[in-house]
Amino acid sequence: MSTTRSPIVIAHRGASGYLPEHTLAAKALAHAMGANFLEQDVVLSRDGTAIVLHDIHLDSTTDVAQRFPGRARNDGRFYAIDFDLDEIRQLRVHERTHVDGSREGCAVYPGRFPVEHALFTVPTLAEELDMLAGLDRSRGCLTGVYIELKSPNWHQREGLDLSAAVLAVLEKTGYRERPEQVFLQCFDDLTLQHLGRRLATPLPMIQLIGDNEWGEDSAVDYEYLRTPAGLDYVASYAQGIGPFISHIYLGKAACGTPRLSELVEQAQARGLQVHPYTFRKDDLPVGIESFSELLDVFIRDAGVDGLFTDFPDLVIDHLKQLPSDGQLR
Ligand code: CA
Repeated sequence: MSTTRSPIVIAHRGASGYLPEHTLAAKALAHAMGANFLEQDVVLSRDGTAIVLHDIHLDSTTDVAQRFPGRARNDGRFYAIDFDLDEIRQLRVHERTHVDGSREGCAVYPGRFPVEHALFTVPTLAEELDMLAGLDRSRGCLTGVYIELKSPNWHQREGLDLSAAVLAVLEKTGYRERPEQVFLQCFDDLTLQHLGRRLATPLPMIQLIGDNEWGEDSAVDYEYLRTPAGLDYVASYAQGIGPFISHIYLGKAACGTPRLSELVEQAQARGLQVHPYTFRKDDLPVGIESFSELLDVFIRDAGVDGLFTDFPDLVIDHLKQLPSDGQLR
């Protein structure tokens, strides 16, 4: 293991285990909990404003179907890119729900914030960054931001340039030249290369790694990216990888020992940071009995450099209880 520092805690969509994802409330809570980085997923409205939203659709987390009936596409989904910012501002955000099947309207994580309390709004990226900078000042700290460009090729086909829009907001809010405080992440390799080489952004890039069958908005082969040759390729344009939990933890051996892939070691050997997703106490991988055990496997055994979590307070508490911060192994 190359890392000797305590892993960074990345609040996944904010403190989304406690408040609806990507609301300013969830971000303020994560800030107060002391997360090192707060994540923003970014898509564009019809008029090209960068908004903080996980899906290219609005219907899993807002009341768009009630407020704007008839505005769905033929697939039944309501796309953020079909709404102007002033329309998106009228929406109320709630805890994530299923949008089809027998569980339509039901919470994806039933133990979390009540779905019926749709008290929140969709923030723009600029509003969120201004709030975090304000909190940094009033609380006397420095909090990082960890921005994901969602479906950049899809945005391009719809006629909008997501990379340019995000960089414009970073410029305007003062984050454009702060490589110690900003990560950019994307599932698409070519978008990261475009940002670094053509748009000359100095910010560190994280290549997200999914499974090929998820149908992410990229032609890249994620199985290849996890091979030594694939990691050589990633290291030519990125500073780290964001793999899925199951790319590292492979289940347990018959004797009960966790089985780990070589991904962390091979990535770190190439100078790549490893920030897996997503650590949830209410969605544990097979064979893992508790959130604390899950964290032990990834922090103590696998030696990751950071973790995306819906529960930043629990990860921070766990790190504090380790024998010596900075001497994990
Ligand atoms: Ca994300």
